[in-house]
Amino acid sequence: MSRPIRVYRSEAVVLKAQDYGEADRILTLYTPAHGKVRAIAKGVRRTKSRTSGHVDLFTRSNLLIAVGRQLDIITQAETVETFAGLRRNLWHVAQATYIVELVEGFSAEELANHGLYTLLIDTLRRLATSDDPFLAVRACELQLLGLTGYQPQLFRCLHCNERIEPGSNRFSARLGGVLCPACEASDRTAAPVSVDALKVMRNLQTNEQAMLRVGPLAQNVQREVEKRLQEYIVYRLERRVRSVTFLDRLRSDVFAPPQS
Ligand SMILES: [Zn+2]
Repeated sequence: MSRPIRVYRSEAVVLKAQDYGEADRILTLYTPAHGKVRAIAKGVRRTKSRTSGHVDLFTRSNLLIAVGRQLDIITQAETVETFAGLRRNLWHVAQATYIVELVEGFSAEELANHGLYTLLIDTLRRLATSDDPFLAVRACELQLLGLTGYQPQLFRCLHCNERIEPGSNRFSARLGGVLCPACEASDRTAAPVSVDALKVMRNLQTNEQAMLRVGPLAQNVQREVEKRLQEYIVYRLERRVRSVTFLDRLRSDVFAPPQS
């Protein structure tokens, strides 16, 4: 006697797609109600497959999924959104790859996070339509940290709780926020953070619309914001998951900005 097969419907974004066997693909999906899901798309690499094209990397799809013993199985798939603009050049592909890897690293299986799902879709859409993805990616980083319980403290000193004033403050990746000049000894590894960089991070965390009206940021401020956030994310991810392979890819030439 065979057991009844349990199936469920879910919308999902494909975070990762690995070829498996002759024609299958193992997918890591992000869903609003089930968090991260690993599922197999059988025969998807055959041209006649009905799911083919509906479960490509970054694609948002409506899926019918059968619960399997080890891996769930995708039985139907219909594309909702392809974010086609992401594939226009390597730089955009690299940014989108970074975003899906962030979501994969900071999310869990069977843990609903509707806010994170919405952030993922909004960010992919912004990347697909924007020529300069800097603000979209940084905003996503800060909002993702907030949605997963790691919001960095940017307004008060982590050590003495005094309000941070413009000056020679430091950003501690280890402690997760800013230290005032009087408390810098509480983390000797904390990097200096300029008034401008701190202002950008605060705006992206609280009022991104105001940020968008500011216009293009100076290159050195962009680099500083990116570096401080990156150090914090690396610190958090290394504590959360053992594998941080995406960082190696980030450091490779592929992620160098396009030369204009
Ligand atoms: Zn302090």
